[in-house]
Amino acid sequence: MPDTVAAWLEVLHDRYPPSHAASWDNVGLQVGDPGWPVARLLVTLDVTAAVLDEAAEVPDTMVVAHHPLLFRPLARLTPDSASGRLALQAATHRIAVAAAHTNLDVTADGAGTNDPVVAVLGLSEVRPLTTELTEGRRLKLVTFVPSEAVGPVLDAVSAAGAGRIGDYERCSFRVEGTGTFRPLPGTDPYSGSGIGQDAEERELRLEVELPRGRVGAVTAALLAAHPYDEVAYDLMPLVDGAERGFGRVGRLPAPTPLATVAERLREGLPAPHLRFAGDPDREVDRVAVVGGAGDSLIDAAQASGADVYVTGDLRHHVTLDAVALGLALIDAGHHATEVAAMPAFRERLEAAGRAVGLDSPVVASTTPTVPWR
Ligand SMILES: [Zn+2]
Repeated sequence: MPDTVAAWLEVLHDRYPPSHAASWDNVGLQVGDPGWPVARLLVTLDVTAAVLDEAAEVPDTMVVAHHPLLFRPLARLTPDSASGRLALQAATHRIAVAAAHTNLDVTADGAGTNDPVVAVLGLSEVRPLTTELTEGRRLKLVTFVPSEAVGPVLDAVSAAGAGRIGDYERCSFRVEGTGTFRPLPGTDPYSGSGIGQDAEERELRLEVELPRGRVGAVTAALLAAHPYDEVAYDLMPLVDGAERGFGRVGRLPAPTPLATVAERLREGLPAPHLRFAGDPDREVDRVAVVGGAGDSLIDAAQASGADVYVTGDLRHHVTLDAVALGLALIDAGHHATEVAAMPAFRERLEAAGRAVGLDSPVVASTTPTVPWR
């Protein structure tokens, strides 16, 4: 059985979940049919006409790119726009194209687009520059149960799929408190002194987690097992990603003149078009990093206490304002900061594919995509 586009997409998304991408992003399969066979994966920063020519040299090549081929919605698939032209070229040659963009930026697996700068500078105490919380795949169920019924209720919701954390089942938390109610005509209260009478009941607040997909079964099990005719319960979405975010901030091994830091990056990434702003002799210690285009995170870099911000695509006035506020800048280039992450991205994909039995070669594109001379 040949590998398929769908199988490789599953590998890609297992490692770099689309839910970790920014809300404005467009990631995943952009051209192609999930059922197409795959004979080779070609990993690239950008999808250009020359990269698609390289892909077409081996039939059934799937391109996995960092930058999405399709980013803004298209009204027509014609050669009038750059992305329309490239998508047509890919589809004509049956080249599937998938992207891992901001979901790759935020990864903690060492293949992210900030990691090359972190590695070249040997930063320590590294943490994300921003915190990105996304709605997770789990919910929390909270309900209020008279103590004698808590066992049967926990049994019922556990059997329906709640209360499982890792390799533990029937995981719950409970705390005792007082519920109050006044039954209205037509009710069938479990306790109290009857219709219209204020009542108090010792109850346990019972909390369990559950996967989103089990919510119907768990709620039905709760309502069936709970002794009240009116069951109070809350379902709350849980968020993921407290440790995940864009950019990085860390410390150099020792305070170092700005010009020396710039030179290390120029050589180490490499970043031949690197430029920097600020006093060359100033000693810097704390470094903020955003691979790619970092204009929009300059306030976060400033707020992190960084002495210098390493990124790309910095505009003139953004640069002037930052320097006025005492933040040195190193613009190493959008392409240079991110293309250096592609070898690790390729290795991670290859290893993840092998782990599930996919054996297509995973190769790095050899087509340069930086257009500047
Ligand atoms: Zn980029």
